Amino acid sequence: MQHTSKLPNVGTTIFTVMTALANEYNALNLSQGFPNYPSAQKLNDLVNSAMNSGYNQYAPMAGNLELRLAISNKYQLLYGSTYHPEKEITITAGATQAIYTIVSAFIRPNDEVIIFKPAYDCYQPAIEINGGKTIPIQLSAPDYKVDWNEVASKISSKTKMIIINSPHNPSGTIWSKTDMLQLQKLTSNTNIIILSDEVYEHIIFDGKEHQSVCTFQDLKQRSFITASFGKTFHNTGWKVGYCCAPKKLMSEFRKVHQFNVFSVNHPAQKGIADYMSDKETYLGLNQFFQQKRDLFLSLISKSKFKYKPSQGTYFQVLDYSEITNQYDVDFAKFLTKEFKIASIPLSVFNKDDNDEKVLRFCFAKTDETLVKAGEILCKI
Ligand code: PMP
Ligand code: GLN
Repeated sequence: MQHTSKLPNVGTTIFTVMTALANEYNALNLSQGFPNYPSAQKLNDLVNSAMNSGYNQYAPMAGNLELRLAISNKYQLLYGSTYHPEKEITITAGATQAIYTIVSAFIRPNDEVIIFKPAYDCYQPAIEINGGKTIPIQLSAPDYKVDWNEVASKISSKTKMIIINSPHNPSGTIWSKTDMLQLQKLTSNTNIIILSDEVYEHIIFDGKEHQSVCTFQDLKQRSFITASFGKTFHNTGWKVGYCCAPKKLMSEFRKVHQFNVFSVNHPAQKGIADYMSDKETYLGLNQFFQQKRDLFLSLISKSKFKYKPSQGTYFQVLDYSEITNQYDVDFAKFLTKEFKIASIPLSVFNKDDNDEKVLRFCFAKTDETLVKAGEILCKI
């Protein structure tokens, strides 16, 4: 039997590789983005109680209606933006499934999709397995600023979609209102769909505000928002997320969604719906993670790493160019084996694996782990 791979250049994700290496070498794992402390007892209890009170069969295809209502209320409260719970919100198996489903619902062979590099790793394979063409725009450390003239030059009649992500994984930077207005201007009067990956919307620091696409009227009409409860409620293993979009876009999304997942874990949805009724459950996240970011930065302030404080997400990127000239993937592996601390090299998310000597560290960890990490990083 012979077959030609549809994704010939795809290997195992860096998250899987680095976590396996961290486990093998018994290293502190600050690589893959997940908390090492438990999700809230109250939330766990609510999911248990959903199971015990019968939420054990298929949820509706678009998701548990109470959860969609809770999400709709959140958009109203935070952004003054209306998403109809029945027609414009769908619960997904994490943001990854939402992203894959959006891309496969709209991208045809030879359609172009613009992405900004370094880019989260699931965008490009989703585009390419559907026959689309990725048009990368490379941003550079340490500011990862967008040159909007370059974006304008990359938009063509073949551009079907632009994928954006703020707060940004892996760089920890955020887009300003001016960035969003530029995007709005460049796409107005086009058929371009925006996929706005906002999984870190509640993790943003120093009093800055998240610029959701839904607050820009023209952008909202052409946009999907993707989100992840795994990130918001510290339980990445539950794989529950959602997406929002105007009715016309969402109805195309659901045509695919109903056949690639149909519906998502029901007791988790019901438990999350009940938990979200207290808005502090998500509004408190900024402060929670700002304390962790500040602790981490204070612990490494005397190290040889250079950095700009993360503006959002639970990642901090560190420049190691004053330590070594080693290729970042090799250096990340070396640190895991020899110093017992695992991180994520950024080159794997860049165009042509461009290496800027930057590693990403996840600070969604207990203070005890962060202290240990700080001690190690100061010795390097
Ligand atoms: N987008 C970004 C930018 C991410 O960092 C992640 C990982 N949380 C995802 C999407 C996928 O989220 P999920 O785990 O809910 O599939
Ligand atoms: N989103 C997580 C990160 O950026 C990884 C999720 C995964 O392993 N696919 O670290």
